[in-house]
Amino acid sequence: MDLSLNNLSTNHSEQVKRVKMVILGSGPAGLSAALYAARANLEPVVLTGMELGGQVSLTNTIENYPGFPDGVGGQELVELFQKQAEKFGAHIEFDTAIEVDLRERPFWIKTYNTEYRADTVIVATGAQATHLDVPGEKELTGRGISYCATCDGWFFKDKDVVVVGGGDSALEESIFLTRYAKTITIIHRRDSLRAGVILQQRVMNHPKIKFIWNSIITEIVGEEAVRKVKIKNIETGELNELITDGVFIFIGHIPSTKIFADTLELNERGYIKTDSLCNTNVPGVYVAGEAGDPDFRQVVTSAGMGASAAMQAIRFLETDEEFRPVPVKS
Ligand code: NAP
Repeated sequence: MDLSLNNLSTNHSEQVKRVKMVILGSGPAGLSAALYAARANLEPVVLTGMELGGQVSLTNTIENYPGFPDGVGGQELVELFQKQAEKFGAHIEFDTAIEVDLRERPFWIKTYNTEYRADTVIVATGAQATHLDVPGEKELTGRGISYCATCDGWFFKDKDVVVVGGGDSALEESIFLTRYAKTITIIHRRDSLRAGVILQQRVMNHPKIKFIWNSIITEIVGEEAVRKVKIKNIETGELNELITDGVFIFIGHIPSTKIFADTLELNERGYIKTDSLCNTNVPGVYVAGEAGDPDFRQVVTSAGMGASAAMQAIRFLETDEEFRPVPVKS
């Protein structure tokens, strides 16, 4: 099969661009997939979504991505990924998919600006950490507020931090933070935890961790950096303030998979079901990064998945020239 692309040639209508591959999302998964696909001459089109780089671009410094012993800025890493993918022929489009039809090939993708027909699709739309939506949160994100202890824990060496949430993530990340922080105060809105029992026991017995129960944060205060949180006890209505250097928020993640729900099989939490080969239930459609990974959520694991998904798509195009009926989710 000729893998060279009749790239961006119009088909069906003036607006529909016919391509070999569309990658949805421009985080580490999407841009790594783009690099691999571009090097196979697929000239992939990457739809960036709302933010080039996704969650990584919001991260101040990344110190756990191999190859950067002194750390690398999130924005800088994204630019490097982009440059490398473009060097081999990837097309980065600052556009967002708003509708897809994956029931038959070529797959149809509608964006704000145009429509595509693509032989393969890689879904790398990521996930969004749920926000508290309180005053100060937006302004101080990256300046003391974090949604990732693995990424940012190091910056809180010998500092006092607050963790919000009572699930497995909040407790696991609190334990991780004990490597660095002097104290960790978990603020939970109820008087019992959602997390598993063993994790609960480990946290309860840890000398650095204490709890504030039945309480919510009503405001995060600081100018250049987080200085304190305002807390309300929802049982008594009592208001308090707690001086802190950081606020880690772990109140859940929402995978950005809504527009695929008609065709792709999702698990009960909304993540796209996949296997170790990044397959979905639709041949020719692959998933990479957090849209299909609720477990690791790291730059390096997402980038690895992106490479795998692209390699699967390349194999698919090399071996499958026929338009087969696509199994539709029942
Ligand atoms: P989660 O289980 O949904 O827990 C979210 C926590 O945040 C809950 O305690 C919830 O309180 C609290 N919360 C939600 N919205 C809030 C708000 N607006 N203000 C204050 N608190 C709020 O989320 P998760 O911990 O990220 O875990 C997600 C899934 O991944 C779970 O199924 C979990 O078991 C799994 N997971 C597993 C592991 C592991 O097995 N090692 C590790 C991480 C995650 P309520 O309890 O009152 O609802």
